[in-house]
Parts: sequence; structure tokens; C-alpha cells
Amino acid sequence: MVKHYFWLLGLVLSYHSALAIDIANIRFGKTEDGGTRIVIEANKKMEYHAFAINNPNRLVVDIPSAKIGVIPKNEWGGIKYRYGYFRKDIMRIVFDIDFNYLVLKNFHLDAIGEYPNRLVFDLQRAANPQNFDKKSAGFNDNTAPINQSPPDNTPNKPAKAKPVVVIDAGHGGIDPGAKGRLGTLEKNITLNIAKKLAGILQKTGNFEAILTRNDDYFVPLRDRFRIAESKQADIFIAIHADSIANPNFNGASIYTLSEQASDKEAQKLAEAENASDFYAAQIYADAPSDIKRILLELGQRNTKQESAILAKNILGKLEQAVPLLNKPHRFAGFAVLKSPLVPSVLIEAGFLSNSQMEKKLLDENYQKLLAERIANGVQEYFKHLQNYK
Ligand code: ZN
Repeated sequence: MVKHYFWLLGLVLSYHSALAIDIANIRFGKTEDGGTRIVIEANKKMEYHAFAINNPNRLVVDIPSAKIGVIPKNEWGGIKYRYGYFRKDIMRIVFDIDFNYLVLKNFHLDAIGEYPNRLVFDLQRAANPQNFDKKSAGFNDNTAPINQSPPDNTPNKPAKAKPVVVIDAGHGGIDPGAKGRLGTLEKNITLNIAKKLAGILQKTGNFEAILTRNDDYFVPLRDRFRIAESKQADIFIAIHADSIANPNFNGASIYTLSEQASDKEAQKLAEAENASDFYAAQIYADAPSDIKRILLELGQRNTKQESAILAKNILGKLEQAVPLLNKPHRFAGFAVLKSPLVPSVLIEAGFLSNSQMEKKLLDENYQKLLAERIANGVQEYFKHLQNYK
């Protein structure tokens, strides 16, 4: 009992002290032999996992339990960087490097005198890209997806008490999604709407609402629908507010999965969305299965048809309250909609590329209105299930 208590105490203490890593600067310089030096500075010793990805060249540095203040300069001599949470407590910094390089040296320097703790990477230009993978001792490689319980295939499982609705706030963490002209980040809008929708559904007492993320961190696309599958979700709803080329497009729309996009805009949107994992430098052991095969599986079940009915029910409620695009039910090959088991829709709540819509999407009341209408559509959908099953 006593032992247990100390274990818990230790966990709590290490959690809090570990969270205190504050990355205060990322700077660049020349090495003596003409290479490039990248230095990450923090107030505490940093554990890290750094690795290279080629084509295009990226150097990825994961630092657990760290936060980053505002660092203005993010470009230097053919190198740009971006950062954000990859797992809930792992800060990921991705350096996009427009030349082939070798990591000649890589080390941590403890703080001394006026110098803070530093993580140093010395790069040299090279003919070919290099494989590089290095972990500091003690780096806790949390590769398991967050929030996800393993798929449960136990037969004769007790029936669920309530229909399960999985709500997926698009983007998050290192992947900010679209950016409006006023600087609004899509990942924040989607999270706000998703949380409101979950709250409303939960409050009805008729549903169990589950969020794929409840904070500002990255979730890989395939983990998002796997969460739905592992929770035996009845439906999956992804929320987005993307940007498109035409700033006059102003209205909500709903997408369901199709290999053939309904139009060019839809195609481009899906391509941008599917780049999320790429943007976050997410690596899979196996390539994601292609949409054609998934659709074949879909054909054997009625998931595709159910997805369309769900889309129709939600649109029916949305159109009474918010502007919709012409032909608001659209089709494209969104990776996040690929579950063959769970009827899935992707709601474009509005486009951040439209300034008027950006202002609306920032408005709490508009977010609430959207969430309420979507919730009404969900209720309508389940009425249909009761009628026809
Ligand atoms: Zn999006």
C-alpha cells in the first residue's frame, strides 16, 4: 500500500517537473567547416528523439513535456521550421530542409553560466540524403496513439446502452489546418464546434459522444477512424473549416467518401486534408490502404449508403439555419472517412478563405448554432434507423 502511494506520488511529481521544459529559442548558425548548426535552447535538460525523413528532406525533433513560446524567425539558409504537439505532451519540431544533408554531430549541452540547455544539430550538405535516427537515453517513445483503446473483437459483447457518436475535430497540434485572413486557425474552430456538439448530444441523454481529441494536439488520420471502430461507434462526424481558392465560396457542405470527387474543389480539399499526416511528419510502418479497396469493402456493407443518409439528415437541419453551398452534399477521397464499418461524414462548417465566414466561425453563438443543427440531424438519422431496421 505504502509502496503504491509512493509510486503515484513519484508519477505526479515527475509529471509536473517534466512539464516545465520551456523552449525559448531556436537559432541557426554556420559551423567552422561551412555547415549549418541548429540550436534548440530550453530552460531544462531535453530528452529527444530526432530522425530524418527524405523526399522532401525533413529533420524531425520530438521533445516530450515541452512548450514553445513565440519564436519569430523560422527560416534560415534553405531551412524552415514549424512546430506543435504531436502527442498530447510531445512537442514536435519539423525542419524542412531544401538540400540533401548529413547530420555530422548531434549532442545536448547542459546549461552553464549564461548559456541555457542546448540541443545541437550540425548539418553538412551531401550528395544524397541520409538516414538518421537518434534517441537520447530516457526518451519515452510514446508511439501508441493517444485515446485509443485496442480493437475489441470479443464475441457476445453486451449491447451498448446508447448509440455512440464519435466526433472528430479536424487537425490539431502541429497541423493547424487552414488559416483565415484574420489569422484564425482551423484547428481551434473545429475543436470548439466539436466540443459543443459533444456536449449537446451528451445532454440529450440519448447518445454517448466521444471526441477523437479534446485539446490542441495532433492525431494521425487513420487513428481518427480507428478510434471510432474501437469504440464501436454508430456514426463518425469529422468537423472542418478549410480554405479554398475561391474566396467567394461561403457556406457549409458535407462530404462523404468517394474515389471520384464531385468537382475540382472537392478533389483539392481532400488532397489538402490527406496531407495532414505528411505535414506532421507522421510515419506509418505500412502504407495506408488505397481508397479503391476500401470502397470495394464499403460496397459489401451498407456503410456508404448510411453515410449518405446521415449527410442528408444533417443538411436538412443545417439548411434552415446557416448558408449552404450549391449542391451541399459533395464527394471526395478523404482519408479520414475510410472506415468500412462506421458511417462517416465530413462537415465543412464554412470556409476560412471567406472573410465573412471567418468572422461567423469565430462567433461562439454561430458555433453553437452549427452544433445544435448537426445534433438535430444526428437525432433525425437515428429516427430513420429505428423506422427501417
Ligand atoms: Zn480541414
